[in-house]
Amino acid sequence: MTQVSDQLVREMVQNVLERVQTGWSGRVSPVTGTAAPAPVTAPGSSVVAPAASRFGQFTDVNEAVAAATNAQRALMRRSLAQRQIACDLIRQICIQQADRLGEMEYEETRLGHRAHKPEKLVLVGQTAPGVEFMKTECFSGDHGITLEEHAPWGVIGVITPVTHSLPTLANNAVNMIAAGNSLVCNPHPSGKRIAAHGAKLFNQALYEKLGIDNLVSVITEPTIESAQEIFRHPDVRLLSITGGPGVVAAAMKSGKRAICAGPGNPPVVVDASADLNNAARCIYEGAVYDNNLLCISEKQVYVVAEVWDAMLAAMEAAGACRLTPQQMDQLGRLCIEPGTDGGHARANRKFVGAEPQVFADLLGITIPAGCRMLFGQTPHEHPFVEAEQMMPVIPFIRCESFEQAVEFAVDSEHGFGHTSVIHSRLVDHMTYMGKAMDTTIFVKNGPSVAGDGSGGEGYGGYSIACSTGEGICTPLTYTRLRRCVMVDNLRII
Ligand code: NAD
Repeated sequence: MTQVSDQLVREMVQNVLERVQTGWSGRVSPVTGTAAPAPVTAPGSSVVAPAASRFGQFTDVNEAVAAATNAQRALMRRSLAQRQIACDLIRQICIQQADRLGEMEYEETRLGHRAHKPEKLVLVGQTAPGVEFMKTECFSGDHGITLEEHAPWGVIGVITPVTHSLPTLANNAVNMIAAGNSLVCNPHPSGKRIAAHGAKLFNQALYEKLGIDNLVSVITEPTIESAQEIFRHPDVRLLSITGGPGVVAAAMKSGKRAICAGPGNPPVVVDASADLNNAARCIYEGAVYDNNLLCISEKQVYVVAEVWDAMLAAMEAAGACRLTPQQMDQLGRLCIEPGTDGGHARANRKFVGAEPQVFADLLGITIPAGCRMLFGQTPHEHPFVEAEQMMPVIPFIRCESFEQAVEFAVDSEHGFGHTSVIHSRLVDHMTYMGKAMDTTIFVKNGPSVAGDGSGGEGYGGYSIACSTGEGICTPLTYTRLRRCVMVDNLRII
């Protein structure tokens, strides 16, 4: 006779109960995690939802948190195999619907480069870390065995930036669900429609396959007040913040544990030993990506005097258009605003993620078709250096020595501890700058994006938690450690 484990019986009973409670009629094997398709009821949808189904769409924070709490409890009764299915469903939607969703994101936010929007979603679909990142630590010795397991927090409050509304939500969702959590997201108001639409697609797919709704819940009319409500809500146990300095400061004051993926201002240093053509190609590739919207993108370049002329010529050969120092000053005055309350200068929102042609028009100049980056000489003290400009206009600063270049680079990074880049063939220089910068990501001889899984080894992500120290977030970031100890037993050697 076949042996049925207690665990299997418990899961089967639980599945039946959940189907009765939710009205869901799909079938999922607790062993394999595979599901039979649910019957079709509505045109264009195979999802059979109970009347109360919301697919993650909420205007009220309390309702969203309550629904996400139920969803998380249901998830915890499922196997890891089913969490994997949930992650795969979100990844598949990102890949299969990248063109349409990318277009919707662009149409709503009007930020960045249209053609890069689908690419970003495909990358999430291909690389967002999921269940495969979950692992258990074990200690085995004279006193028995101890397991350290990564447990979920429950409901996570999520803030996403306008610069990558759906990519951040999707990437966070895969990470968080893999770890056994659900989430309630307050998206940026200017990217709320694409966030809500994406969440709806994810929840519909999750509901159809697993019978769980609202794992990815979104506030459809987000405000600063609704963000604050999430920050204060007693059933939200962890915060995950991706955005600029204001929201990071607000979350840190909430009294809750907050994982903060805050601003960056990545400097690049080019020394005399660098392969200048490779450096120019890499700077161009990294800085122009999505019109420099990425927090990780190259924002200012320090070049030693010895190779200054050759490096600027290499930038032009790579396709960048050179501006005069006067034109850089003119753009600085128009596109960068002074900091308030002693803060750093900041980008004028009107020009964030704008196409190079917009800046050419401001200057009244013609640039060749296909040119994706403008650059020019500035002093180290310049608005384009101080501000995280998020525009394809990159200041280049001539330095008397490598040491001066690194000193300026450290200063321009403002202690964010985010990302820095060096182009050099000298290991001593790499070590010197790596130590001086102390950034979460340090890229050598590649574009900055290589440090985030795009062209370099390792996984990538859309939340790079620098100030709070988690680095590029993975499912393990969204877990808490629990220890299980068997004293004097179960060690088998
Ligand atoms: P933003 O700071 O204007 O907004 C980010 C989010 O915070 C939005 O959802 C916004 O509604 C919310 N918000 C802002 N102030 C708030 C407050 N006081 N209380 C509650 N919520 C508040 O930033 P943005 O323009 O949307 O995104 C760009 C910024 O995000 C850049 O600084 C960029 O470097 C940073 N970013 C960082 C990472 C990372 O991984 N470190 C990734 C993407 C973007």
